[in-house]
Amino acid sequence: MRLINLDGRVALLTADGAVDLHEATHGQFGPDPQEVFTHWEDLLTWANDPALRLAQWVPVAIDPERLRAPVPAPRQVFAVGLNYQAHADESGFVKPSEPVVFTKYASSLAGPQTTVALPSAWVDWEVELVVVVGRGGRNIPASAGWARMAGVCVGQDLSERRRQHAGPAPQFSLAKSFEGFSPTGPALVTIDELPDPDRLEISATIDGKTVQHAWTSDMIFPVPELIERLSTVVELFPGDLIFTGTPAGVGAGASPPRYLQPGNVLRSRIADVGELTQTFTDGGFTDAAAAQDGNAARTPKHALTAAQGG
Ligand code: ZN
Repeated sequence: MRLINLDGRVALLTADGAVDLHEATHGQFGPDPQEVFTHWEDLLTWANDPALRLAQWVPVAIDPERLRAPVPAPRQVFAVGLNYQAHADESGFVKPSEPVVFTKYASSLAGPQTTVALPSAWVDWEVELVVVVGRGGRNIPASAGWARMAGVCVGQDLSERRRQHAGPAPQFSLAKSFEGFSPTGPALVTIDELPDPDRLEISATIDGKTVQHAWTSDMIFPVPELIERLSTVVELFPGDLIFTGTPAGVGAGASPPRYLQPGNVLRSRIADVGELTQTFTDGGFTDAAAAQDGNAARTPKHALTAAQGG
């Protein structure tokens, strides 16, 4: 099952287009895309009913511009830093013995095709697999992890590196929560749609050139283990999001560092899941010198050696 958020209403994605879930179920589910997670098990039961194949649905064509975040208002958004060894290496960190966890504030969530106004010349890209909690709870063993998840989508953990490292300790959560900094989608894809949820090809391109390419099987803490470790501390709620970390190839890890520029088109892709497209504009940052030379403008204060993770 693939669920999309079409102009604020949850819809089923079919080969022929979108079917409004509220209408298809005669009001049993929807239209609120977030509310479906409170009835997730019932929705799965409904979706697995063979009689549905006879239903006379009339899919409508989808205008990608109308797609919103498939999970628009989660109670909690977790994000994991340094979860791929090659990214930990490029960031100057040793392999973490515990997941590095922060949040991306929900106000930064956005849909799959957006325009992002760059707040500065230090905005970086991080393609990530995003996991959506189905049946939450505490103390979920890794062996039950995937079964408790509703599905996955593609995510971008856009990151403003200067703010991330301003001050005496890193500001992961704020630096990664500017407006539009958490695009997700295009659909919530249930686990049964994936050939192997622990081994998905993940990549990102800027203006058509590949900058990140890896497999989610390279994760230091695979998804089931993340769920176990998170849920020993916090309760996971239906509809929560977990950004599971980015592979190598972020701009801050390049030599010299490189950041997003106005006009860049960033595509973030996970095979069998989908693709996001972000176009960037100048958000009005006034440091013209930095805008022209953001890569070289990192002052020693900001060029911390162990600086780029996330
Ligand atoms: Zn990240």
